[in-house]
Amino acid sequence: MSARDLSVAVCGAGPAGLAAALRLHSAGASVTVFDAAPHAGGRTRTDAADGWRIDPGVQLYSASYARFFGLLGAAGAGALAERSPGRDALWRKGRAHEVVYGSPTSMLASGALPLQLKLRMGAQYLPYLQRHGGDLDLGALERAAAAGLDAESIAAWGRRELGRDFVDLLAAPLLATLYGTLPDEASAGFYHALGRQGLNLEVRALRGGADGFCRAAADRLREAGAALHLSTPVSEVHTAEDGVQVSGEGWNERFGAAVVALPAPEAHRVAKFLTPEAAKTLHGVSVRPAASLALLLDRPAGVRWFGLSFAPGEARNVAAVCVQENKVGGLVPPGKGLLVVFALPDAARRLLGATADDALALLLPDVARALPGVDRAVVGARFYDWRDGWTIFSPGSLGRLPALRSLAWDSAPRAVLAGDWMYAPTVEGAVTSGLAAADRLLSRVA
Ligand SMILES: Cc1cc2nc3c(=O)[nH]c(=O)nc-3n(C[C@H](O)[C@H](O)[C@H](O)COP(=O)(O)OP(=O)(O)OC[C@H]3O[C@@H](n4cnc5c(N)ncnc54)[C@H](O)[C@@H]3O)c2cc1C
Repeated sequence: MSARDLSVAVCGAGPAGLAAALRLHSAGASVTVFDAAPHAGGRTRTDAADGWRIDPGVQLYSASYARFFGLLGAAGAGALAERSPGRDALWRKGRAHEVVYGSPTSMLASGALPLQLKLRMGAQYLPYLQRHGGDLDLGALERAAAAGLDAESIAAWGRRELGRDFVDLLAAPLLATLYGTLPDEASAGFYHALGRQGLNLEVRALRGGADGFCRAAADRLREAGAALHLSTPVSEVHTAEDGVQVSGEGWNERFGAAVVALPAPEAHRVAKFLTPEAAKTLHGVSVRPAASLALLLDRPAGVRWFGLSFAPGEARNVAAVCVQENKVGGLVPPGKGLLVVFALPDAARRLLGATADDALALLLPDVARALPGVDRAVVGARFYDWRDGWTIFSPGSLGRLPALRSLAWDSAPRAVLAGDWMYAPTVEGAVTSGLAAADRLLSRVA
């Protein structure tokens, strides 16, 4: 059998599923995509409200995301990617200190970090990242484990090697804002790989919203004759003789093969073809909720930075406030403003299933302290939550990634898993998993 005779169901229209669908389609397979949500995009969705375009996630992409940008171009949407200014700030001792993370000159000049920490960064940490450069790759985190960097948390490593300020002022804000986790639960190797990627200063965003990739991929697939079934949750995927059986409430379809591209807990629930060992391993993937609140403003926020994160203890419930008019064009109507506020991991847990009013009550006081008077500019609020928001790459987990991937791909001959949890909690991780899953299937039918 060749790929041309293959019909494949792709469950999940996030970056992982759509990457797999594009690869399968270009190999000649006939593709049908299912998603539970009424839109493609998964956690990269962009919401529209009265002229604003809201990215509920940070959704900044390092220039090093080669597979993601390659596929964005192949989907005809390469021009959407624009350089984002990358200017951030840290709230410390009652004020915002501007800093460009990753830029040694900016970090040395910024009041965000105490002198002792700056000296240690220059003399110890940057050389450490350079020295271990070959072991620190977000696309192959198992290399950090092989180099012995996955045995402890970044909190334990940082306190011992660089001091408490490193953990509180660098690791904690970055991890809480961009990865929904805390220094005590994140692997040192994972943080070092992020640090290494952060040395590449070019960050990009998609003009008009982060869902630009998924929308372009979905359009391209539709134009080529693929079927996209939105608002269609999949409840079970079974392997059958010479194929798979995909079913939801009141429907059941047969395909030659399937890619299940869902967050790990959902994949565990839906994929009935897993071996007991694969199911157990998938169940062990640790996942945390995420939550954000968009505040539509009747004026720009009036600051230069994009992301303001808070040093531990400086905010009760907020990890960061991101000023969307300073991220990329096409998000905020002229003369208006848009803040997206990210909850700290514990607050995100408490806010699951909450209303925008609940989220406002919990998060606005921290925001108003950092941006006095902003509460009077709010003309609308939208709340977003994700039960399966973030996969936690905890100590010991990096070394298990290759085995996790084998179990996810080799449980059944005609069905494979994909998802950011197999590589890294980024769109690049998701796209890498989707392409790899598609290749795995194709190699079996060739
Ligand atoms: C708050 C936040 C901020 C982020 N910021 C960044 C960032 O700055 N940079 C970056 O690179 N990454 C960022 N990410 C991570 C990035 O969004 C994810 O890594 C990526 O979206 C994962 O893609 P995925 O396809 O694996 O999963 P998802 O995007 O979650 O897609 C899964 C899809 O499956 C669908 N689905 C679920 N259950 C079912 C079912 N039973 N049947 C059918 N469909 C189903 C969902 O509706 C969804 O569309 C952020 C994430 C969050 C939560």
